Amino acid sequence: MENCIFCKIVQGIIPSQKVYEDDLVFAFKDIHPQRPVHILVIPKRHITSLAHVSVEDEPVLGRILAVANQLAVEQGSPGGFRVIINTGTIGGQEVPHLHAHVVGGSEPVGPMLKRQ
Ligand code: AMP
Ligand code: ZN
Repeated sequence: MENCIFCKIVQGIIPSQKVYEDDLVFAFKDIHPQRPVHILVIPKRHITSLAHVSVEDEPVLGRILAVANQLAVEQGSPGGFRVIINTGTIGGQEVPHLHAHVVGGSEPVGPMLKRQ
């Protein structure tokens, strides 16, 4: 999709710190890491958000989760990790190309949500 920053990262038009790529997904380091390990795993094909998926997207959704552990271990979070998929305005999604945050490190990442 034109003017999508993550599509441009997949295409190499915008540089990224790539950590993984296969036929369906692309993974790179978040530019503003929230934890020592903070990877974004995205579908290569543009999908706007988890609110825009259909049955045909099931393989790529499965692949995103299937590679999360491998990437977390390789990047320095062997004791576990958290996967976060912010979706839409309520979910706090800023980049409109589906992405899974894989966060971790040597310390627990903390509460899932801050109290309001
Ligand atoms: P979200 O709020 O879930 O949409 O998260 C978007 C994430 O993308 C944020 O954590 C940003 O730091 C990250 N991000 C934005 N632009 C880039 C970029 N060019 N390279 C790597 N990460 C990025
Ligand atoms: Zn895109």
